Amino acid sequence: MSPAPTAATRLFALLGDPVSHSLSPKFQNAALRALGLDAVYVALRCAPADVPGLLRGIARAGGGGNVTVPHKAVAAATVDWPSGAVVRTGACNAFWLEDGAVYGDNTDVAGVREAVRALLGRPPAGARVLLLGAGGAASAAVCALADAGVERIVIANRTVERAQALAERFRAPGVRIDAAGSVDALAGDRFDLAINSTSLGLKPADPLPLDPDAPGPAAGAALDLVYSAGETRWVHAMRAHGLPAADGKEMLIQQGAAAFRRWWRMEPPLEVMRAALEGRKGDAAAGDSC
Ligand code: NAP
Repeated sequence: MSPAPTAATRLFALLGDPVSHSLSPKFQNAALRALGLDAVYVALRCAPADVPGLLRGIARAGGGGNVTVPHKAVAAATVDWPSGAVVRTGACNAFWLEDGAVYGDNTDVAGVREAVRALLGRPPAGARVLLLGAGGAASAAVCALADAGVERIVIANRTVERAQALAERFRAPGVRIDAAGSVDALAGDRFDLAINSTSLGLKPADPLPLDPDAPGPAAGAALDLVYSAGETRWVHAMRAHGLPAADGKEMLIQQGAAAFRRWWRMEPPLEVMRAALEGRKGDAAAGDSC
C-alpha cells in the first residue's frame, strides 16, 4: 500500500480530455513509490479554458505534471519558459516550476527518439523514414528524426494539407521532408523505418496503417506509436513478415521518464515503470492500486 498523502505531499497531474484510459498514473506512481518520494500523480479531465489556471496553479504550488490531447497547444501558450521542443512542435506535454517560473517541455520528442533507438538498436542517422499521420505525435516524431540526422522523411496523411504543413514547419537544411496524401502513391519506394502516428489501431476494426501484404512502399522496421495490451495488430502483421516491430509502450515510458527527470532532477526507475505498465509480478509497486 502507498503511504497516505500528508500536508507535505506534492501534486502531479495529467491534464487532458479524456484521461480515464491513461496509464501514466500507474507507472508514475510506481516510480514515486519506488524512490520514496512524497508525491502523488493523478489524472484530471478538464476543459481547455481551465488548463492555464490548473497548469500554473499546480506548478506554483510546488507540483507539476503532463498534458495530453487536446490541450498540448494551450499548454504551450501557457508556460513561461517553453523548451526548444515546445517552440518547434507547438505542443507542451510536461510542466514544472523552476526558479519561480513555469517551465514546459515536449517530452514526446525524447519518447520517440528513445523508442526508435530501442527498436533499431542505434539512432536512425541516415535512415529513410515513412511517417504515417500528421497530428501532434507526428510533429514530435519529425522533431526527433530531424535531430537524429535522418536522410529523408516522407509524411503520408489522409489529409494531405496537414502533411504539407508539417513538412513545411520542419523544413531545414540536411533533411529532406516530403508530403503525400496516401501510401498508395509511394508504391515501389523503400524505407528503413515506418512509424504509425495515426489513430489507426485504437479500434479493433481499423485497417492496418501500412499493409505489408498490399502493393505499396516497403519498410525495414515498424514502430507503432499506438499501444495495446499484447501489442497492436500492425506490430503482429509486420513481425509475421520477419520485420522488427514495436508498439508505443516504450515511447509512453520514455516520454514519462523524460518528464520525471525534469520534475525531480533524478534518474527514474525505468524497469519499475515498465513493470507497472505491463502489470508484471515481481514489481513491488505493480500490485498496488493507484
Ligand atoms: P491527432 O493529433 O489527433 O492526429 C491523428 C492522426 O491520425 C492524424 O494524422 C489523422 O489524419 C490520422 N487519422 C485519424 N483517423 C484516421 C483514419 N481513419 N484513417 C487514416 N488516418 C487517420 O492525434 P495524436 O496526438 O497525433 O495521436 C496519434 C496516435 O498516437 C494516437 O493513437 C495516440 O494514442 C498515439 N500516441 C502515442 C503516444 C505514446 O506515448 N505512445 C504519445 C502520443 C500519441 P487527418 O489529419 O487526416 O485527420
